[in-house]
Amino acid sequence: MRIVVLDEADTELTAAADWYEQEREGLGDDLLAEADRVLNAIAADPQDRGGEGMANMVTYEARPDLAYIQMSNGLTSVFIAVLSLAASALAETEREREFAAWFASHDQGLFGLGVVGFDVSELPWSPSTFVREREFILRVIEAAKARTGWERLGYEPREDWIQPCLDKLRAMVEALVLEDACRSGATAWSYGDRPEPLVLCPVHRVYQHEYGCVLCNDR
Ligand SMILES: [Zn+2]
Repeated sequence: MRIVVLDEADTELTAAADWYEQEREGLGDDLLAEADRVLNAIAADPQDRGGEGMANMVTYEARPDLAYIQMSNGLTSVFIAVLSLAASALAETEREREFAAWFASHDQGLFGLGVVGFDVSELPWSPSTFVREREFILRVIEAAKARTGWERLGYEPREDWIQPCLDKLRAMVEALVLEDACRSGATAWSYGDRPEPLVLCPVHRVYQHEYGCVLCNDR
């Protein structure tokens, strides 16, 4: 297992180590060594953690050179919510409504914490309309960055956390090529089936997934 230390955590740890080092020489180094030891233990036996601290990742597996997204469970809920709101607001065609419902189906309130990450190749791309769909998703990301529908969230997302995630998603979607997006041809609906018909939640104006509205379920 590969362990990724987030920049924020790394900064915090370094600051703590500096403080300890000032308190007593050698203490800061001890703290860093202990952090190393814990991380190595987790890497060696992730099950030992009993799922504690699990997070969701959004990746582009075929392009390991691009930055992927790793989010806490809380940030993941925000990420899915703002993409669902933006996609639902922009969707004009049945295919576009399907993408909105697909984002919404990544519903932690329903499927559990830490399990709703995805690879950008897994969106319900269709080979014949891929270029148009990718263009739609890029517009959705811009709309999410512009806070589309945020007034219906019921809370104020931390922009300094969510915006960098949306930036990374944009970079991955921009880079996504048809060969990767439509490689398997397998159905991309991992969290419930594609709903039929596609219906808006009257409260949140978000397309519902098979088991309801992601924002209603988040309460
Ligand atoms: Zn709702």
